[in-house]
Amino acid sequence: MTKKSKLIIFTGPSGVGKGSILEKFFNIANKNQDKVVYSVSSTTRKPREGEIDGKHYFFISKEEFENKIKENTFLEWAIYNDNYYGTSKDFINKCLNEDTSVILEIELQGALNVMHQYPDALSIFIMPPSFEELEHRLRGRNSEDNETILKRLNTAKTELENSGKFKYKIVNNGLDEAVNELYQIFIKETK
Ligand code: 5GP
Repeated sequence: MTKKSKLIIFTGPSGVGKGSILEKFFNIANKNQDKVVYSVSSTTRKPREGEIDGKHYFFISKEEFENKIKENTFLEWAIYNDNYYGTSKDFINKCLNEDTSVILEIELQGALNVMHQYPDALSIFIMPPSFEELEHRLRGRNSEDNETILKRLNTAKTELENSGKFKYKIVNNGLDEAVNELYQIFIKETK
């Protein structure tokens, strides 16, 4: 990792808007020809409507995931809401060797693990304006049952309690503002 390429850990509770922020961030970064890519994780979770295999995640079976753990494929992996999620070690190494920054959109345990392995990684936590707003957004997504939503809210509490361990915090008060803040951090840390 050089000043020019960074491993970027991007964490925040489910429903906070990480996906929308990153989508817009990459629109800007691609337009400006910045050397930064998204790390596509593997997961055993079923695809949500509109999610594409290989773009949003590599959707694999539990058995395949457990084999990959044994083969030491992952830089980090975690269980979140009864599903496995993991980051490919080879992909991350390839990016950093090519002086390309890479963004890992991962949950708290994985984030802490990566921070430990890469003390120079850039860690960013996305905060909701309030806990109530987070609940409202999660319920509005309409893609999960009540039990799953309650589990996600419970996990969110723990994640928020650990947000102080991240170098930067961005409050998602409005999409464009949050994207702009993220882009400014990226420029400051990589240029
Ligand atoms: P979702 O099911 O909403 O797509 O993701 C659930 C959580 O898993 C989110 O907090 C997301 O950031 C996290 N996540 C996605 N990929 C990975 C990964 O490779 N490793 C870890 N530790 N968490 C991940």
